Amino acid sequence: MKERILSPCDQEADTEHIAETRPQYLRDFIGQLKLKSNLDVFIKAAKSRAQAIDHTIFYGPPGLGKTTLAQIIAREMGVGFKATSGPMIAKAGDLAALLTNLSTNDVLFIDEIHRLSPLIEEVLYPAMEDFKLDLIIGEGPAARSIRIDLPRFTLVGATTRSGLLTSPLRDRFGIQMRLDFYNHQELETIINRNASIFGVEIGHEGAWEIAERSRGTPRIACRLLRRVWDFAVVKGVGKIDKKIADQALTSLEVDNLGLDMMDRRYLKCIVEFYNGGPVGVETLCAVLSEQKDAIEEVIEPFLLQQGLVQRTSRGRVITDLGYGCLGLDKPSQPNKNCDDCSLKLF
Ligand code: ADP
Repeated sequence: MKERILSPCDQEADTEHIAETRPQYLRDFIGQLKLKSNLDVFIKAAKSRAQAIDHTIFYGPPGLGKTTLAQIIAREMGVGFKATSGPMIAKAGDLAALLTNLSTNDVLFIDEIHRLSPLIEEVLYPAMEDFKLDLIIGEGPAARSIRIDLPRFTLVGATTRSGLLTSPLRDRFGIQMRLDFYNHQELETIINRNASIFGVEIGHEGAWEIAERSRGTPRIACRLLRRVWDFAVVKGVGKIDKKIADQALTSLEVDNLGLDMMDRRYLKCIVEFYNGGPVGVETLCAVLSEQKDAIEEVIEPFLLQQGLVQRTSRGRVITDLGYGCLGLDKPSQPNKNCDDCSLKLF
């Protein structure tokens, strides 16, 4: 999928300002109130016992703050932080190198933990449970197994696909937390906070306009703020108000609901080719020329959360709200066939 302004995934242009805006402590982290208050208890309890906090896993769509929370745990606990991701750990030796370099109570963060290979997961289990590393050295008849003691550490995992996590791995996390999309007030607070870090003047209505179109995702809010700021500098007087925010976001083809061309293509495809659905995700991937992961992890979570589409056992179905946001009325005749409609296209 080519880079979209509304993509919740990390993009190269985000990295330059991410370090200045990322909340450092739990008190700076906006929203997710229940999760935050529970995490606060777990951190305080672990600190009072002078122990590492239990292994923790964060579930939720990209851009909601999983990496940020992992770093906050390490900072609040006053311990070291090392980060990697599931696909980066190709061999047991890679994991061994990471684990043996940890100090007592350190946090090891594994992003996209559902993408660890089964072989690596097997090595991880005794490391998580007994703080031991079982390694096979050598090959063939000369191969021997060695057991290495590890320091106590906290594994923090993050995944956008909780369904793909194996249950033995899931069960080894003592703390399991799910992040939800943010509401407009929370996003407005995040936007105001970032604006004050950047030193840009922003009015309530300007911040609200950006918040409404940020798809409940802080990473998108942050990116849209930067782009609206560009418009404010070049086409306005440097200050962000409702008018300049609206002008900028309309130029960027982000509508009032926070939908862009890609979302509308997806919705229109279901309506125009499949009479509103149901249609299987594989068929949608083929028609839209997108990867299944991109559709399931990037496009659909927000559309589902907004109630614009439904996932059923027979495939994706557009809802009344979905028709409404395309400016269409729901047809009176329900669709009988589903994937057969793809014949029309080929
Ligand atoms: P994830 O790991 O879930 O993809 P990140 O933790 O990398 O998301 O967060 C994405 C961006 O959004 C970061 O720049 C981070 O600073 C910002 N962010 C996320 N959650 C919050 C929050 N609750 N308050 C303020 N900024 C946030």
